[in-house]
Amino acid sequence: MYNVAQLIGGVWGAGGQGGELVVHDPADGTPVSTVPVATADEVGKAVEAARDAAAEWAATDPAERAAALARAVDAVAAVAEELAEAVTAEMGKPLADARGGVAAGLGTLRQYAELAPVRGGRTLLGAGDAIDFMTPQPRGVVAAITPWNDPVAVSCGLLGAALVTGNVVLYKPSERTPATGWLLARALDAALPAGVLSLLTGGGEVGAALAGSEVDVVAHVGSTTTGRAIAAAAARTGAKALLENGGSDPLIVDADVDPVWAAEQAALGAFANAGQICVAVERIYAHRDVAEDFVAALVGRAESLRTGPGRAPETQLGPLVDRRHRDHVHGQVTAAVAEGARLRTGGTLPDGPGAFYPATVVTECRHEMALAREETFGPVAPVIVVDSFSEALRCAADSPYGLAATVLTGSMSHAQRAWRELPVGTVKVNAVFGGAPGGAAHPRRASGHGYGYGPELLDEFTATKAVHVEAPGGGHW
Ligand code: NAD
Repeated sequence: MYNVAQLIGGVWGAGGQGGELVVHDPADGTPVSTVPVATADEVGKAVEAARDAAAEWAATDPAERAAALARAVDAVAAVAEELAEAVTAEMGKPLADARGGVAAGLGTLRQYAELAPVRGGRTLLGAGDAIDFMTPQPRGVVAAITPWNDPVAVSCGLLGAALVTGNVVLYKPSERTPATGWLLARALDAALPAGVLSLLTGGGEVGAALAGSEVDVVAHVGSTTTGRAIAAAAARTGAKALLENGGSDPLIVDADVDPVWAAEQAALGAFANAGQICVAVERIYAHRDVAEDFVAALVGRAESLRTGPGRAPETQLGPLVDRRHRDHVHGQVTAAVAEGARLRTGGTLPDGPGAFYPATVVTECRHEMALAREETFGPVAPVIVVDSFSEALRCAADSPYGLAATVLTGSMSHAQRAWRELPVGTVKVNAVFGGAPGGAAHPRRASGHGYGYGPELLDEFTATKAVHVEAPGGGHW
């Protein structure tokens, strides 16, 4: 059992007067973590303490901040296995995937420690005897509010980029993975000056108190509903809101592709991490010429997945994060079936403990169904048959979200049309996941705004100042 503690003003174990939460293992319902809940007053005190620590950290040489982050990488690496085990215990994903998330987080921290001190501003070509330049400065106090689905990788990105650019950070991990957040914060804090990082725990009300307080940036990775509430709160305080939110990513299966290969791609995109990935495949537009063979192969893939607890090495499909989330997933599936969709496999609640949900394939879906339009965030593949690539592109583009999209096609002109026309941040051709290191994109509309990843995230946490210097009295220096 993990006993989580908060870190406020450099003091571990501070606060927690808002009560206690218990997190249960989604594989079997056993208690995993106890977590203090911060009160609004504690959040206010944590923000004040962070503000007090901000000036000194901002004035620390960039190379020294980078060295501190490099030490933090070592500290996180030393607890990598413990972190992966906590992820699996709290949110259920297979341990190998959890290890992958920790490795990704470590890679991101390393990159930011290297990149931050070599990113400068630029000089301007002003009058000959003047000095003009633009320089990035820390924004000040950053609230980092994170989700549970890939908790280490996402948190390392926000925390690493915000800290190394000279901001102090108030970290609020998800109430579904608080021990993971606590282990990460403990490791980072050991390598940083006291007070530079704070940890506040609890549910959405703690996040809301933080987002409504006098911070300079609220960086949120999570659902669109929360992102909108945070944008409204930040509009009231004047804080910058950086939002990486939900998606409903389409997969287009063109007429000329091998349907069995396309089904492998679709299964990977829809069922990895039990569909709980922001860029999971959420809706599939399959060309009529290949649709039946594609669906048959996809059903085969879905039924072959080995389901079980994440800690069992053979598990390919772990449980969903909890039963509340399972109700949401199952509710969308049953609503689609009630509106005429057809279950080809899965779609039923299993007996037994935990929050397991089977890999599910639904056909005869319509583009207007909530299962296709809204984010499901579960192991569900809704298939919509289309008669042309143009129809598929039109449907794929018609969404309130704009996170990512994948196109499977043998046609170069279709691939070119897809990346040019789809109004999303990331377009992938012939691979549902993947991309070069350092890639970053702007999500669109309900999926958020700003860079949440890559070297550009460093810029999100700085404010650029333009400086113009002349000699006194119009004379010479
Ligand atoms: P969530 O928004 O419910 O929770 C995320 C964090 O926000 C948690 O720490 C939570 O306590 C906090 N929170 C909740 N209500 C709040 C409020 N009113 N004000 C301030 N903070 C509040 O999201 P989740 O369920 O943890 O995560 C799943 C979602 O995250 C999915 O929609 C997924 O697509 C999205 N996600 C997006 C990306 C991306 O890069 N775009 C990456 C991972 C996950």
